[in-house]
Amino acid sequence: MLTPSHNPQLIRQSKIEQALHQVDIEQEFSLVFQPVIDLRSRRTVAFEALARWSSLELGDVPPCQFIPIAERIGLINRLSTHLLGKALMIAADWPPHISLSFNLSTHDCASDEVAEQIVSIIQESNFDPRRLDLEITETAIMQDVVKVQHSIDRFCRLGCGVALDDFGTGYSSLSQLLSLAFTKIKIDRAFVIGIDENPVSYKIVKSLVALSRDMQLECIVEGVETREELEALISLGCFFVQGYYFARPMCHSDINGWLKENSMAGDVSEASVKR
Ligand code: C2E
Ligand code: CA
Ligand code: CA
Repeated sequence: MLTPSHNPQLIRQSKIEQALHQVDIEQEFSLVFQPVIDLRSRRTVAFEALARWSSLELGDVPPCQFIPIAERIGLINRLSTHLLGKALMIAADWPPHISLSFNLSTHDCASDEVAEQIVSIIQESNFDPRRLDLEITETAIMQDVVKVQHSIDRFCRLGCGVALDDFGTGYSSLSQLLSLAFTKIKIDRAFVIGIDENPVSYKIVKSLVALSRDMQLECIVEGVETREELEALISLGCFFVQGYYFARPMCHSDINGWLKENSMAGDVSEASVKR
């Protein structure tokens, strides 16, 4: 019989948990940045900061593995505040028309006190909050809508944008979700994969884009990998996109070069970009 001690997934989780208990956040964690492209101007308008953990014991561990464990063991707030401070410091050097998106965990929005801590970090930075978007994932929000709502309102009062991440993946109550004061939605990659060949994905993204327009919410489509996917999104009137087709997440030292050289990689012809 297979016991937990023989289950490779559980063994891995337990190793990650042990390593996180002894982690040196400053030394082992870093950020990479993925550009967000405006298809109308063909320019980069923002970068999303994504956490990377290079563990001294385990090597590189992806965020989908360490974030849930950091949340469970109560490390996430320390991690989020450290990374947010770092991201704001890096972004302070960017040209003023470039925004920063930062992912928050639901635990960062779970109490007024923690939300105030986030607010203080933003206020103490040299970065204009109007250039900052905080991203919160749909699945996380529904665990405590009322508390998250307070935090979102607080962030909005400061002038930040607040984006609903992974929209459409959580089977949440649409009316409840849309009653929150989001300024943007991000359509998950799950709906983009093969959108050019899959009529169901196409219709879902079409509806989500129409919904975001009706709600006057900016809409960003993530995970665009192929030219065919991009063309399908253009035909739906999408403006903001992110994905490997344009760029993989990059280190901060590569950002200036990226902005200088290449506001949009790929070869979307001018005529095909819907205005
Ligand atoms: P997310 O916020 O939805 O971020 C997008 C993920 O998709 C990133 O994975 C990114 O590298 C990946 N991605 C971007 N373009 C493409 C593409 O064209 N194809 C494919 N296959 N993937 C693409 P990553 O960096 O592994 O992050 C995974 C998730 O971990 C993030 O999903 C986010 O929910 C969470 N995360 C990452 N950094 C942080 C952080 O600093 N704080 C918190 N709380 N969560 C974070
Ligand atoms: Ca995100
Ligand atoms: Ca997402």
